Amino acid sequence: DKDLTGKTALITGAASGIGKATAILYAQYGANVVLSDLDEMQGQAVADQIKATGANARFVKADVSDPAQCQKLVEETVATFGQLDIAFNNAGIGGESNATADYSLEGWHKIINVNLNSVFYCMKYELEAMLKQNSGGAIVNMASILGQVGTAHAPGYVAAKHAVVGLTKTTAIEYATKGIRINSVGPAYIDTPLLNAIPDEAKKLLVGLHPIGRLGKSEEVAELVVWLSSDKASFVTGAYYPVDGGYLAQ
Ligand code: NAD
Repeated sequence: DKDLTGKTALITGAASGIGKATAILYAQYGANVVLSDLDEMQGQAVADQIKATGANARFVKADVSDPAQCQKLVEETVATFGQLDIAFNNAGIGGESNATADYSLEGWHKIINVNLNSVFYCMKYELEAMLKQNSGGAIVNMASILGQVGTAHAPGYVAAKHAVVGLTKTTAIEYATKGIRINSVGPAYIDTPLLNAIPDEAKKLLVGLHPIGRLGKSEEVAELVVWLSSDKASFVTGAYYPVDGGYLAQ
């Protein structure tokens, strides 16, 4: 069933864009949600918005590039709602826009920390909590079309997202018999604040890369994430799921 009533879901990067839309949808399906983000103002506002609908929600600030904060986030989640059943490791940044020879060392370490190491840190502690409960679980990691193909001037982003796809596969194999399913999702270009750095003219060119002829919406990614998180996807693990308007079909 797609019904998430009684389950607890943790979402990182929940203050904005895809994470926000997914937190709202999890709550609509009856889950208790813990929203986490660096942005306390926006994150708390989304949690309040969800609470106003009668659902259970809490905001917990955390920087996912810091393992100690990831550990504390999982502990706070379990302390608040008694368990952890679903995790959406979604927080991420776009990073520097430079060719490899021009890419700064700081920029490289930053994007690997925020977009890749965070997924390992979060999964490590989420798995620990799920294994202790011994009642299975579902983890969805945020990849991208750029976890399958490259693009110029984003070596850090492309490397991090490819690695998220691989990490998802290997971890899924390890915990498959424990009833913990782990998958990654790969959006093409989705209209969120992440694309604010891209000039309007370039955005128009991006539209043309999608056979569907437009950018995606956060809600369209949320639908896939919620399905993968639900028992309806009970035989799906270790998979990469595109949600890309046909981008990778070309
Ligand atoms: P967004 O900027 O709207 O949301 C990302 C959120 O992550 C923000 O609220 C930000 O504060 C938070 N965040 C950033 N660094 C953090 C950190 N260190 N710790 C905790 N929170 C942090 O962007 P979005 O488009 O919703 O992106 C969400 C995820 O989707 C990212 O991983 C991104 O790479 C991925 N993605 C986005 C697109 C797209 O086109 N928008 C496409 C494919 C994949």
